[in-house]
Amino acid sequence: MHRHSYTATRIPGSRLLHSPGPTPLPEAVQDALRRQPMDLGDPRVDANIAVCEEGIRRLLQADSAEVFFYAANGHGAWEAVVENLLPPGGAVLIPGTGHFSESWAVQTEALGRRVVRTPWVEGLPIDPQAVTDALRADPRHDIVAVFVVHTDTSSGVTSDLAALRAAIDAADHPALFVVDMVASLAVTPMAMPALRANVVMGASQKGLMVPPGLGIVAADEAALAVAGRNPGPRFYWDWRLRKSDLSYRKFCGTAPQNLMFGLEAALGLIFQEGLEQVYARHRLLAGAVRAAVSGWASAGALGFFAKLPQCRSDSVTTITVPPGTDVDALRQVARERFQVSMAGALGPLTGRGFRIGHMGDQNPALILGALAGVQAALQVQGIAHGAQGVQRAIEFLASEPLAA
Ligand SMILES: *Cc1c(COP(=O)(O)O)cnc(C)c1O
Repeated sequence: MHRHSYTATRIPGSRLLHSPGPTPLPEAVQDALRRQPMDLGDPRVDANIAVCEEGIRRLLQADSAEVFFYAANGHGAWEAVVENLLPPGGAVLIPGTGHFSESWAVQTEALGRRVVRTPWVEGLPIDPQAVTDALRADPRHDIVAVFVVHTDTSSGVTSDLAALRAAIDAADHPALFVVDMVASLAVTPMAMPALRANVVMGASQKGLMVPPGLGIVAADEAALAVAGRNPGPRFYWDWRLRKSDLSYRKFCGTAPQNLMFGLEAALGLIFQEGLEQVYARHRLLAGAVRAAVSGWASAGALGFFAKLPQCRSDSVTTITVPPGTDVDALRQVARERFQVSMAGALGPLTGRGFRIGHMGDQNPALILGALAGVQAALQVQGIAHGAQGVQRAIEFLASEPLAA
């Protein structure tokens, strides 16, 4: 049996990783990952956790939010949010964004809660009016929270959080505003208090440039109060048990130290570059990818899944292909022959497109390399595309200086 083990072959140079998570690891993060772990009582363990908590608060501009880290992926952070906020049988509104909103909804239902959905309209962001209407249809205020996926990583669509906050306010409903920023944390700005977001959740392996394995939840006072009144049984995820000065309690056991060292290193890089600069760099690189996709699309076969330019994500771009296109073969050629890893589309989009991730430790050269590799793979596979795609990206980057 032949399998590609990850240790099997050395790639000359290195393969460009443009999946929308996991994303490439900066050298400083790799160095942190290979450090020796410490004994549980070493004060440096506590200091590392404190620096990471502070860094997440700073990213979210939320001085007083409580930050919880889990040895878990994004699905673990989802579960933490469900188990803490929703009582058994309790209700939540999950507006449709595609694969990720639906996955969160299915997981929430599996945990014995009731999910109210708004319809997902392909290629479009969440309709704020649908959120207001769904909350108005709940006069008894059974709905405890609205779970919003900010960037749906399958469709590449980003919804407007300020408009959604206003939509909840317009319904005059006390539901908590909970935001999944797994794919947008450290990519696009967030100010939790200004937005009155009560909970933000994330994971390590996307904009945060750390390997998979850390789930992150930040909760404000209102969310902690709702959780405090929730009689539902829980233990590992329980915010009440995790609110402690002891690292062993904060993690309900041993902290995933190396991932936390990696996160400290990554946050250090982010703040060293400057948050505004990090966001500007992501906008610039996303613009270059979009310029290339417009060039490819001019041949009439490829297109943007995100229909409105203003809802196209700065983290990931989903590109639609004509029916019958073998997306897996395209990805395989891109990966094995041109050394560019990209993703397929998930859930309802499976087989209908591919995705180029452009978040995290990225720069113009890496983006141009990825676009060239994808264009070469399109050529090899005989998929109709405008040949000026990469050239458009170059022109875009040449005309847009990265603000210093
Ligand atoms: C990746 C992702 C998740 C799930 O994270 P895992 O670490 O794969 O469990 C959830 N929501 C969004 C928006 C994501 O991009």
